[in-house]
Amino acid sequence: MKYKDHPRFGYEPRVTGLNPGKNDAGVYLHWHNDRAKDYPWSRTSKTIPNTAISANPKAQVTALFPVTHYFDLERICIDCEQHFLFFAMEQMYWYEQLHFPMDAECVRCAECRSSMRTLQQLRLRYEELVGLEVLSEQLEHELTEARLVLIEQGVFSLKQADAIGAFFNRFPDHEQVQSMRARLRAIPPEDGQGGSFVKGRRRS
Ligand SMILES: [Zn+2]
Repeated sequence: MKYKDHPRFGYEPRVTGLNPGKNDAGVYLHWHNDRAKDYPWSRTSKTIPNTAISANPKAQVTALFPVTHYFDLERICIDCEQHFLFFAMEQMYWYEQLHFPMDAECVRCAECRSSMRTLQQLRLRYEELVGLEVLSEQLEHELTEARLVLIEQGVFSLKQADAIGAFFNRFPDHEQVQSMRARLRAIPPEDGQGGSFVKGRRRS
């Protein structure tokens, strides 16, 4: 099995040799270890044997019962649909260091989580720039670039492309205009609005 690489924990299960069962005395496993099938998003979630580490229940924000062990879990990312591992070490970090609630679940691979974070930051920067009354050409370019990336990543609809066209009109000689036009043309049309903007631009 080939897993997506995780920047901290790698791309292979971390075998510890520890393999407690849920019926063993004093062992409480997180419900995602055997009830994962109840969650539509994690129907494919799988506990990897012999990867357990001991938990520190006192550090957890416990819901129903404290968890005594974490296992590496194999999952399929809901964004890129590739197999990744939700590592036991990562669960410990989430639930004991960051104090995430025990029902916080990892449904995206590390790469998709990081690109989500990047997009959230970009979105914040976009809102900051949009709120300014006067923008220099440089800031206007930054705003337009942010808008383009947010459209490319599906955060914004293609309707936002009108504002990009306005930038092209204002700064036709900007060095990035050609490549931005090409990127805009490469965005697949959305249902119902058929990329008419893009075609319109190509005629101009
Ligand atoms: Zn992913």
